[in-house]
Amino acid sequence: AQVEVVPVIGSTNQYWLESIVRLSKGDVCLAECQTAGRGRRGRTWISPFGGQLIMSMYWRMDQGMAAAMGLSLVVGIAVVEALEAEGFAGVQLKWPNDLYLNGRKLAGILVEMSGTAGGPCHLVIGMGLNLVLPREQQQRIDQPWAELTELAPVTDRNRLVVTLVRYLQDYLSRFEANGIASFREPWNRLDYFNGKPVRVLMGEQEIHGIARGIDEQGGLRLETTAGVRSFLGGEISLRGG
Ligand code: ATP
Repeated sequence: AQVEVVPVIGSTNQYWLESIVRLSKGDVCLAECQTAGRGRRGRTWISPFGGQLIMSMYWRMDQGMAAAMGLSLVVGIAVVEALEAEGFAGVQLKWPNDLYLNGRKLAGILVEMSGTAGGPCHLVIGMGLNLVLPREQQQRIDQPWAELTELAPVTDRNRLVVTLVRYLQDYLSRFEANGIASFREPWNRLDYFNGKPVRVLMGEQEIHGIARGIDEQGGLRLETTAGVRSFLGGEISLRGG
C-alpha cells in the first residue's frame, strides 16, 4: 500500500475522499494535525499537533454499499486487537465506532462512503487516536476522553502505525470474504456496554434497555421491556443509562 504523510491538513478523510481516483485499496494518509477534523453528523474532532495518531485508509468493496454494512465494527475490532498486539491492553468498543478506555473516549473512527447504485462502494476509513493531548486542547472536548499513554508510554509511533495498517488490511479482507459472522464473538468480548443499561438516541426518541451485543448484521441489540430490538447504523447514538 502507498502511504502519504502530510503535516497539517483540514481533514485526512476529506483529502482521501477527493483522491479516490488515484488510490488503491489499503492506501493510507497520515497527518500530524487536522484543522477541520470531523466526527459523525457534522461534529468536530479535535486533532492538535503532535497529540494524536491521525490516519485515513482507502478501501473498495466491489459488492456495493449493502455489503459494507457492519464494516465500522470490524475496523474497531482491528484497531483494538492491533493495540493489544502492541502491548496496549484494556481498550474497549462502543457501538458502532468509538474506542473507549475506562469508559472514556480514546479514539474516534469515521467511515465515509461514496459510490453509485450497482457500482463499487468506495470507503474512506478515518481514525483519530489520542496519544497525549496538549493541555490547552483538552478543555475543548465536551465529553470524557482518554489518552493511550494512560496504558503505557508510546515509544514507537511508526511501529504502531504499521501494525494498525496490517490489522486493518487483514480484517477488512476477511470481512469482505466472509462477512460479519466471525466478528461477533470478538465484538462481544470488547463491547464496553455489553450487559449495561443504556439509552439509544434516535432523533427525538430515547429508548432505554440493556445492551446485548450485536446481531448477525452488526446491529446493536437492546433488551427492552418489550423484548429484544435491533438497531442498524445511521442516525443512532448510544449512551450510558
Ligand atoms: P456518537 O455516539 O453518536 O458517535 P459522539 O459524541 O461520540 O457520538 P462522534 O461524531 O463519534 O460523536 O465524535 C465527535 C465527538 O467526540 C465530539 O462532539 C466531542 O464530544 C468528542 N471529541 C472530539 N475530539 C475528541 C478527542 N480528541 N478525543 C475524544 N473525544 C473527542
